[in-house]
Amino acid sequence: MICPNCKSSVPDNSPVCPECGQNLRSFMKDVPISADINTGNPWSQTISQPLPRVIPTNMVFAIIGTLLFSPCGIVAVINAAKVSLLIQAGHIEEARKASKNAVYWSLAAVLVGLAVMVFFPTALKDMMASMPGK
Ligand SMILES: [Zn+2]
Repeated sequence: MICPNCKSSVPDNSPVCPECGQNLRSFMKDVPISADINTGNPWSQTISQPLPRVIPTNMVFAIIGTLLFSPCGIVAVINAAKVSLLIQAGHIEEARKASKNAVYWSLAAVLVGLAVMVFFPTALKDMMASMPGK
């Protein structure tokens, strides 16, 4: 694009003009606002990447799973914790994967946890009932 201030040619995805420093963001629609806030560097490559913030860590989900005393919940928490670490390290794709894993393991944790809560008391009752001299 052409800088509206100094009329020099500017890369399409740059938030400011390299020649005169003119803020070009208001002249474009598709540049993420937080690109240079995240990195402090408007020329960093994060401009062309999708915003990391949209990846959910699913930590809440994972913690619910863990509260149901399921080992799957712990795996979910580990994955959820990995999401923010991977985002900070710039591994966006891996963060996405960990985010998905956290959902799967959380769901597994909730299902297993519910199954345990439903079946364990029943099994306990049966055990008590079968005890001699009740
Ligand atoms: Zn300019």
